[in-house]
Amino acid sequence: MQMEQLVALCKRRGFLFQSSEIYGGLNGFWDYGPLGVELKRNVREAWWRDMVTSQDELDVPPGAPSTYEMTGLDCTIIMHPQVWKCSGHYDMFHDFMVDCRESNKRYRYDQVAGRWVEYDGSRVFVTSYQSGDEGAADVQQKALKFFKLRAKHKERLQWDGPMTPLPEIEDTSQVLAPDAKQLGTLTEPREFNLMFKTTIGALGGEQDTAFLRPETAQGIFVNFKNVVDSTRVKIPFGVAQIGKSFRNEITPRNFTFRSREFEQMEIEFFCRPDTSPQWYTYWRDRRYQWYVDLGLAGDRLRLRDHDAAELSHYSCGTADIEYAFPFLAEGEFGELEGVAHRGDFDLRSHMEGKLVREHEPDGPFVVELNEEGQPKYRGSGKDLSYFDDQTRETYVPHVIEPSAGADRAALAFLCEAYQEDEQPDEKGKLKKRVFLKFHPRLAPIKVAVFPLVRKDGMPEVAREIYGELKPHVSAFYDEKGAVGRRYRRQDEIGTPFCITVDGQTLQDGTVTLRNRDTLDQWRVKKEDCLAELQERLSGASEYPQ
Ligand code: ATP
Repeated sequence: MQMEQLVALCKRRGFLFQSSEIYGGLNGFWDYGPLGVELKRNVREAWWRDMVTSQDELDVPPGAPSTYEMTGLDCTIIMHPQVWKCSGHYDMFHDFMVDCRESNKRYRYDQVAGRWVEYDGSRVFVTSYQSGDEGAADVQQKALKFFKLRAKHKERLQWDGPMTPLPEIEDTSQVLAPDAKQLGTLTEPREFNLMFKTTIGALGGEQDTAFLRPETAQGIFVNFKNVVDSTRVKIPFGVAQIGKSFRNEITPRNFTFRSREFEQMEIEFFCRPDTSPQWYTYWRDRRYQWYVDLGLAGDRLRLRDHDAAELSHYSCGTADIEYAFPFLAEGEFGELEGVAHRGDFDLRSHMEGKLVREHEPDGPFVVELNEEGQPKYRGSGKDLSYFDDQTRETYVPHVIEPSAGADRAALAFLCEAYQEDEQPDEKGKLKKRVFLKFHPRLAPIKVAVFPLVRKDGMPEVAREIYGELKPHVSAFYDEKGAVGRRYRRQDEIGTPFCITVDGQTLQDGTVTLRNRDTLDQWRVKKEDCLAELQERLSGASEYPQ
């Protein structure tokens, strides 16, 4: 599948629109249309149900070290600025960017790569902002253009070394920027904090600056004591939150994959320090399986453990769940979710103040001091340790954090669902059919009800069935146009079942049920439609749960 086909379908059928489109759009912001809102809601609801509400705290789930409880929170987007100072985001949540003085374009420093090439006595580092094979092909094109050579003379170029990231090039005077015609147009790299700033209140001084949260996690940490004190949860337990996060990404791209406003689904799982490695493994595997069960099976999905160099400043172990999105180069994967072992880093930071490692790369965490020897950012001073009334021990719990993006998950489900085949139309001619093979739990509409024709009392019966289904499943009624076209419209938005009222219905009270994927059709008594659908949608037959 080409990404353009999916993007076009999303717009045509109302899954996704560019934000503020009538004003030319706003880069990095996306609106969910009438079908998209249902898809994303289904993703969120599947996550909440599977992770939180259906979690049985009396039973040990397969692979888990013990029973555990789950509960939820919904915290504010704007929090006390000290939260971000102690969490490390204020100082450390940045990317490096470079600007091109010629094209006025801005790039993420680490995402520009290029190759040295020599021709006619000059040696130039030609760059691209694309990755993988496409980036390499782009560099070749640009080198030919720069030296005013035709494609047939490409062997006159002498390449020196493989594709290399720009940060590895010390002198940029011979660098050809991705959109430039002259050399040496890139500025020095500059740090850019990804948190959006805002101002609280009318006075608007520096002390009133606040930030839109770049992750939902911190709301859970700062409420840890509130949850323990207001409920009867006992360690091990997890707190889940779904909500908007904001990052001022330097170059948002790849549809909704990298947006500036997006939704996260995060769990902070609190456990005894000595059990945390087992819980880490449990959550890593459990979260991976969740995507598999909802249809992302196959070699486009993978679980990848980070190596030591990649680990975040707080983490003792991280794995990413990744998907081979079609907009990425062959063999590349994009992150859907990170599962991190965060140790006691976050709770300690909010108690003591911002932490740093005493000795890099893996010394113990200590409070960072300023020039006067005082904590650089003071913590809350509140005791966020936990008293275990069974073992009579007090400790700061360790945390496992599965952190997923609802938009990236929805996009991966859309990409995976996109299918094409050939089916005969009403006249028996083979025609391309596009269909979205969503897992029924994710499909925006579960069933469409049609009268075969708009006469002989068929619409009345179809409407009656529709009315019976509607309170229980998301249903759609359509009586316009040829029935074959109506089927195709439903296939294209991923509706798993269609019900048609036809001539035979009027005689024996049965209707036709049609399966989107197999195109099987079978007859069911009209009063049994709901039960039949519910059984099939709940996965009793062809879909795993
Ligand atoms: P990336 O390396 O792709 O920027 P990240 O490692 O910074 O992602 P995390 O901080 O681990 O991401 O955030 C957890 C999840 O939130 C990600 O796995 C992703 O699903 C989602 N997410 C993060 N940034 C964005 C974004 N800009 N747009 C959409 N989703 C995002």
